[in-house]
Amino acid sequence: MVKRAFKYRFYPTDAQAAQLSRTFGCVRLVYNLALQARSQAWTQRQERVGYHATSALLTGWKKTDDLAFLNEVSSVPLQQALRHLQTAYTNFWAKRAEHPSFKSKKRSRRSAEYTTSAFRWRDGALLLAKLSEPLDIVWSRPLPQGCTPSTVTVSQDAAGRWFVSLLCDDVIEQTPATGTVGIDVGLDSLLTLSTGEKITNPRYERAGRQRLVRAQRNLARKQKGSANRAKARVKVARVHARIADRRRDHLHKLTTRLVRDTQTIVIEDLAVRNMVKNHRLARAISDAAWRQLRRMLEYKAAWHGRDLIVVDRWFPSTKLCSVCGALAQHMPLDVREWTCRCGSVHDRDVNAARNILAAGLAVTACGDGVRPQRGSSRRGQSSVKQESPRATKGIPVR
Ligand SMILES: [Zn+2]
Repeated sequence: MVKRAFKYRFYPTDAQAAQLSRTFGCVRLVYNLALQARSQAWTQRQERVGYHATSALLTGWKKTDDLAFLNEVSSVPLQQALRHLQTAYTNFWAKRAEHPSFKSKKRSRRSAEYTTSAFRWRDGALLLAKLSEPLDIVWSRPLPQGCTPSTVTVSQDAAGRWFVSLLCDDVIEQTPATGTVGIDVGLDSLLTLSTGEKITNPRYERAGRQRLVRAQRNLARKQKGSANRAKARVKVARVHARIADRRRDHLHKLTTRLVRDTQTIVIEDLAVRNMVKNHRLARAISDAAWRQLRRMLEYKAAWHGRDLIVVDRWFPSTKLCSVCGALAQHMPLDVREWTCRCGSVHDRDVNAARNILAAGLAVTACGDGVRPQRGSSRRGQSSVKQESPRATKGIPVR
């Protein structure tokens, strides 16, 4: 039994759109006010203000004339915003994340989260608090039978599309699998498997990118603050959304297949942020959405009881001969095939994938105690670390 999110588009009435937009605005405001209160308390008085204290603050804000409008929206999404802030702080203290930052009107995700007390679910009709009619949801795929959502998240993306995400308990069928696979990330191929299989970048990416460049150029020509500029911005967002949707689709199919067929999957820990600074790689890496792939592998592996092992990125996977273990001297990016002194001829990426697999299996053979301190991998001290399964709550599923 796992928590699983099912996401659908919906088409709000004008009244619903207005009320939900107002809710998004209030959620953002409450989050920012609470963040300000918490960081001020810390910088000025070295006080830690927790969730309950911010909840009391919220009650106070609603009673002031300036913020009385907070009463016009459902109180639950506002409470949830405070909980999200609490989670952001917990992650920050545990050194898993940066310090929480203020939500921006333009850049931040517009969303509101409703728990059971703030919606009614009956026979597939979803009625949110403060709305008079159920949402007009497009059921692009069925919900699991007998599923009752425990949390509902409404959001709107930059392209103006509305989504509702239903968090449900779902049973994942456990099927046994054997076998191991190592995965290398590349530029020519999106992924190369240690089996020799190559998975290419989706073909439509290039066309989408050209469309994106055109739309962005068009946007740059429009006068700031004009209605035409706003229109052009939505157009750019639509192209972005289209590319992202298809890519996510591609990655979902891929990760589902990998997790279904294989018991042990070994991947490389690419520090994407560091690599993106290199302009030659930037486009390909962001496009390949490596982080997205890894996240999908993480939660799907946890669902199905597979082992996902992450090998440190300083491990010289490309230069190492997977047959004899000799280390080649130079390996420029344009070398696709090379011959080792031992006589083995290697495809660059397949060789790397095999090395990644071998490094991962070496760890599991030593036992499961390999879990170095966070950060040690950055200094290159450990070659391998084992991933612990993550919580699956709130995972966006298309
Ligand atoms: Zn060799």
